[in-house]
Amino acid sequence: MPAPRTYRAEALVLKNAPFGEADLLVTLFTREAGKVRAVAKGARRATAKLVGHLEPLTVTRLALSRGRTLDVINQAETLESFALVKANLTAVTKGLQVAELVDGFGSEESPNEPLYGLSLATLAAIGRSPDAELPLLYFHLHLLSVSGLMPELQDCVECRREIEPERHRYSADGGGVFCPDCTPHQSGLRPLSVRALKVLRLLARSQPTALPTLHLDASLTQELRTTLTGTVQYWLDKEIRTNSFLNHLARTERTGTARG
Ligand SMILES: [Zn+2]
Repeated sequence: MPAPRTYRAEALVLKNAPFGEADLLVTLFTREAGKVRAVAKGARRATAKLVGHLEPLTVTRLALSRGRTLDVINQAETLESFALVKANLTAVTKGLQVAELVDGFGSEESPNEPLYGLSLATLAAIGRSPDAELPLLYFHLHLLSVSGLMPELQDCVECRREIEPERHRYSADGGGVFCPDCTPHQSGLRPLSVRALKVLRLLARSQPTALPTLHLDASLTQELRTTLTGTVQYWLDKEIRTNSFLNHLARTERTGTARG
């Protein structure tokens, strides 16, 4: 039996771009079918009703038709606009990083409901506390987990012995922590502080709706960021575009605090 020509989906809008004279090309991460690229016909005309429901970082309910190459969006209705995320520059930049990474790790024709749920929970957490570091760190770690790429944090990747505190190193391309006796050939082996390892282990077993209350000082935050974005970037195999602007915002914030 051929697939039906029209279908419904719930999706997070990842990005959109002008397409042809008046159309909009929208990249969606759907709960039902993974990543979908679809066209909203005439969406850039002044009278278009669809466009407001197709802004990046909006959860929308859609009616679509299958096309030869690209599907066509017939209807869209906003379910969640994440207004708190869009109201704050730092929050929206973090939100766009979530969208960029879902675009990078999500696949077409391949649903990943845990990744869908993780993205929405992360955006909600960013909206609640735009300046908190944990939501995005949590997202990076669990993005790896729901993609089947979770770094090992308990036992040595090589010999499987339990890691003793202060006697470990970390490698993104090696797949996690190594004991001092095992020296893999990967170039990316580097120190990881005990407190960073503890935060990673804690985040690994936390829920996105109940993130632990942790005070992270600047150096620990930086170490966790470097470790996690380094690992995510290794698997993504390209630069995370939103990172430089996020780092710029973090630097401005720190200077602002120092002056105040
Ligand atoms: Zn070992």
